[in-house]
Amino acid sequence: MPENLIPSQTQVEQDTLCTHCGYNVRGLYVAGRCPECGTDVALSLRGDLLQYADAHWLDQLRFGVKLSLWNIVLVFVSGVISSYAAATGLSVIVTLLGLAGGGMGLWATFLITMQEPRIGLTEDPVTLRKFVRGCALFTFVGGLLFYSPDVQRLGSVFYFFSRVVNLAGYASSICVMIYLRRFALRIPDEALALSTKRLMWSGILVVVLLFIFSLFTAVVLGTIAPGTTPGTIANSSIWMGFGCITMIAMLVLFLWYVRLLMKYKDAFEVAGSVARGEVSE
Ligand SMILES: [Zn+2]
Repeated sequence: MPENLIPSQTQVEQDTLCTHCGYNVRGLYVAGRCPECGTDVALSLRGDLLQYADAHWLDQLRFGVKLSLWNIVLVFVSGVISSYAAATGLSVIVTLLGLAGGGMGLWATFLITMQEPRIGLTEDPVTLRKFVRGCALFTFVGGLLFYSPDVQRLGSVFYFFSRVVNLAGYASSICVMIYLRRFALRIPDEALALSTKRLMWSGILVVVLLFIFSLFTAVVLGTIAPGTTPGTIANSSIWMGFGCITMIAMLVLFLWYVRLLMKYKDAFEVAGSVARGEVSE
């Protein structure tokens, strides 16, 4: 135990931030309490492993990951319903489910990127945390605008705008991976960190392939001479094969992502229990 290694009458010699409020406890007695929030100074001297972090913050992380998992279920259900809704005129329900899914995803991202109390007083103006939140918020608001007929009537501007919104969505998802990986290193769980990194790069690869695919499709279909059937090109075996491989790759990435989220949920739960003192280290 680090507390036993440090004599209680000594003072904190290095810059050390209180885990609960971020106050710099340098110069205070190790046996003392943080003057701002009353947390034992010794508790802030144990390093940055998640199990020594603020318990409430860890609960928020766990809830955020749980919401992400539930959001996947919601998106899946709304996908199934929307395939029936077109025929039965239930488009309002599909719109509502889409809004609920988007809102839930945004909420989850904001919980996962909740500011750690330790850095509350010292956070840089620009951080990955804020970038992820900005992209997620932009994606959500942009997605809301898609529902507006006025925006849809803008034609090529709408198309360009929808691409930008999609790009922000991808950026936010990929940066969440970088963000989660940092937590894995604080569990510490090297295997989880490596798996998260691989998922992130695989995700980037699939997005790039999809982009190339859609670009080629647009170019090919855009340059067909009048009179030829676009279907013969669009349905060629190479196109079909590429589509199949991409679909399989996306399914694998999706299952991988779900598995990782469940691991993070468990890790935050364990760290939270230790932080609250319910379980010994
Ligand atoms: Zn404090």
